[in-house]
Amino acid sequence: MPTKTDWHAIAQELKTIVGERNVLDDPVDLSIYDCDAETLDQAKPDLIVLPGNSREVVEVVRLANRYQVPFTPRGAGTGLSGGATTVMGGISLVLSRMNRVLSVDPEEMVCVVEVGATNSSVSRAAAKYGLLFAPDPSSQNASTIGGNIAENAGGPHTLKYGMTTDHVLGVKFVMPDGEVTAFGGTTVCRLGFDWLGLIVGSEGTLGIATEATLRLTPVPQKVLTMLAYFSSLEMGGQAVSDIVAAGILPAAMEMIDQVTLKAVEETYHLGFETAHGALLIVELDGPELGIVSQRSVVQRCLEKNGAVHITWAKDDAERKRMWQARKGAFGAYGKIAPHAYVLDGVIPRSRLSEAIGKIRLIGEKYNLLIANIYHAGDGNLHPCLLYHRDNTDEVKRVLSAAREILQLCVGLGGTLSGEHGIGIEKALEMPTVFTPEELAVMFSVKRSFDSAGFCNPGKIFPNPKSCGESGMRPLARLKLAASC
Ligand SMILES: Cc1cc2nc3c(=O)[nH]c(=O)nc-3n(C[C@H](O)[C@H](O)[C@H](O)COP(=O)(O)OP(=O)(O)OC[C@H]3O[C@@H](n4cnc5c(N)ncnc54)[C@H](O)[C@@H]3O)c2cc1C
Repeated sequence: MPTKTDWHAIAQELKTIVGERNVLDDPVDLSIYDCDAETLDQAKPDLIVLPGNSREVVEVVRLANRYQVPFTPRGAGTGLSGGATTVMGGISLVLSRMNRVLSVDPEEMVCVVEVGATNSSVSRAAAKYGLLFAPDPSSQNASTIGGNIAENAGGPHTLKYGMTTDHVLGVKFVMPDGEVTAFGGTTVCRLGFDWLGLIVGSEGTLGIATEATLRLTPVPQKVLTMLAYFSSLEMGGQAVSDIVAAGILPAAMEMIDQVTLKAVEETYHLGFETAHGALLIVELDGPELGIVSQRSVVQRCLEKNGAVHITWAKDDAERKRMWQARKGAFGAYGKIAPHAYVLDGVIPRSRLSEAIGKIRLIGEKYNLLIANIYHAGDGNLHPCLLYHRDNTDEVKRVLSAAREILQLCVGLGGTLSGEHGIGIEKALEMPTVFTPEELAVMFSVKRSFDSAGFCNPGKIFPNPKSCGESGMRPLARLKLAASC
């Protein structure tokens, strides 16, 4: 690694590429960029660089190679697995200035965007043509298309519309050595190896996307949204299974528990009833005729499973209020504890009730308050472990409980992550899902893209070496894991 003097020289050179004000090295700035929304692990970058276009990205990457320093792409830093955290130091390469929607083609139903465009800005640009960008992470007002692509983000409407990978047609891509290439194209048809499929979800470890061609979806003719309360999560979970078993594919089915419900109500005062064990939101969309008949099937499934106060939104304002219960939930946890560790396990939907009961027992075992948000329709669970980062004993219990919950998900036939990625958060758990041989194959793919190993190092793959040996900055997770 370069000495302090070298960093000064690098900063000067970077300023000639991106302009004086787009290179940050003030200690306060470096602290701000020391983690993403997974705040347990922090590691400061040595420099922060904000390029304004693809050409500048190329020059920054070439310079990093020349000086042999790591670089880590970053969008809005809302990631929940530490993907943008500079665990080996080096350059935090922030794409958020590249935020233009370059074109919308309503006839082809595609748009071309710079990767720093926020998710919701794409749908706003498409709205005047009656179109939208379907992936809708709850972070959509902040998170960038580049981050969505790198994490293969999902959202409440993934149930019907799929993940980000289903809506990306092509990317312009800067390889880790600074070569510019393109993957995919402008249509859904692809020939040969599915390189684009490999890039989406690669968590910034194979290179940097700078532009994306996205598939747009027509705004549905009719949307019906309802909420219902249940006395337990298990009853809500059964209603979800029954709706799917009845042959209905809602646009979204989202459930929150009573802890979350109370936090949301205390924060936003929207008139939710907090005496119930669970709240379920179901959204139907499509042609008007079809969804009216679906509504009565959904109503029957809810009633059969003991739902009370079933309310169908009368207008858009009421619909938005219902969604606030779900989309504002993470922010509301601040009412309960200063820190929330959001897990992202996946289970087969049919095992939902079983998983709910077992997660509760894990919370009791470790004496932790666990709030729950579920993308119930696709079995993607977000148990949120609420804690205080300064309480070392509590942090240790959080890490142990988190590990046990992920192992539970895998044991039930599911997996480690539905949409937040592996990053540093789940890297140590990868061997619970993959054999050493499978991991070696994956690593050889990484190496064939990034032979020098400077592009977002220290992510996804379990690192058996100590921090000192690997060059990794000491992370709370690794230190505590070693002392457990
Ligand atoms: C309140 C809240 C709610 C959330 N809800 C959801 C949800 O519903 N669904 C969901 O899927 N996620 C959700 N997330 C997680 C997060 O918002 C997503 O993972 C999002 O896609 C990250 O985008 P970002 O721009 O913040 O990326 P960052 O956090 O900056 O980066 C994420 C990863 O992408 C890489 N990266 C970023 N830009 C590029 C690029 N241009 N090229 C290559 N690699 C790049 C980074 O290196 C890193 O590995 C939520 C997070 C929060 C805080």
